[in-house]
Amino acid sequence: MIDSRGLQFAYPHSEPLRFADVSVAQGGTLLLRGPSGSGKSTWLALASGLLTPTAGEVEVGGQSVGGLSAAARDAWRARHIGFLPQKLHLSDALSVADNLGLVFFAAGLPVDKAAVAGALRVLNIESLAARKPAQLSGGQAQRAALARALLLRPSVILADEPTASLDDGACEASLDLLRNSASKLNATLVIATHDARVMQALPNANVLAFDTAVPVTA
Ligand code: ADP
Ligand code: MG
Repeated sequence: MIDSRGLQFAYPHSEPLRFADVSVAQGGTLLLRGPSGSGKSTWLALASGLLTPTAGEVEVGGQSVGGLSAAARDAWRARHIGFLPQKLHLSDALSVADNLGLVFFAAGLPVDKAAVAGALRVLNIESLAARKPAQLSGGQAQRAALARALLLRPSVILADEPTASLDDGACEASLDLLRNSASKLNATLVIATHDARVMQALPNANVLAFDTAVPVTA
């Protein structure tokens, strides 16, 4: 469940970005749609507590994200949010399996190697566990990042432009994976995108349109 009311965020020396209110049921899907620079990634950062709103609030699973202390917010994020960033942020120094293991450190939990293997198996990349991210194709790297996002069984999955660099076949596969993963966990799925193919593939999703909701900033 995600609810936002009067949400705003101002970067230094900029006009505030103002976001229309949303209300999405647990297990629902929300598309953040709008052109580049319209505030989609900022909205995701607010919903995951990486940024604190300058006005209004966003509640995720009944928790007001901005109301948490900085330390509590990191722990909350690690336990509840599965983030698939646009830039995948896989460490090239570590194997795929060890990249996933880092999730447990972030959450203050002992590394569960069986859970890592299980997450890789679910996404059909178990055989890639020992590889370095540089040895993966783009699609494989995204699967590894998605496996990492799903490892602690999040109640919310946030994906930032997941299809931007994918051809039509890979785009469909990526959206299927996101949908199936969210559905298995009954997680709320939020996809930020300016890709018309995503709109076509998810015709019944809630949509937060950014092109009109956000004023043009200097
Ligand atoms: P989108 O994800 O839709 O492309 P963003 O949320 O990244 O949009 O950006 C929204 C606006 O905020 C843009 O005008 C962008 O230039 C500005 N912006 C993004 N990040 C920063 C930052 N760290 N500092 C200042 N301005 C930023
Ligand atoms: Mg963005």
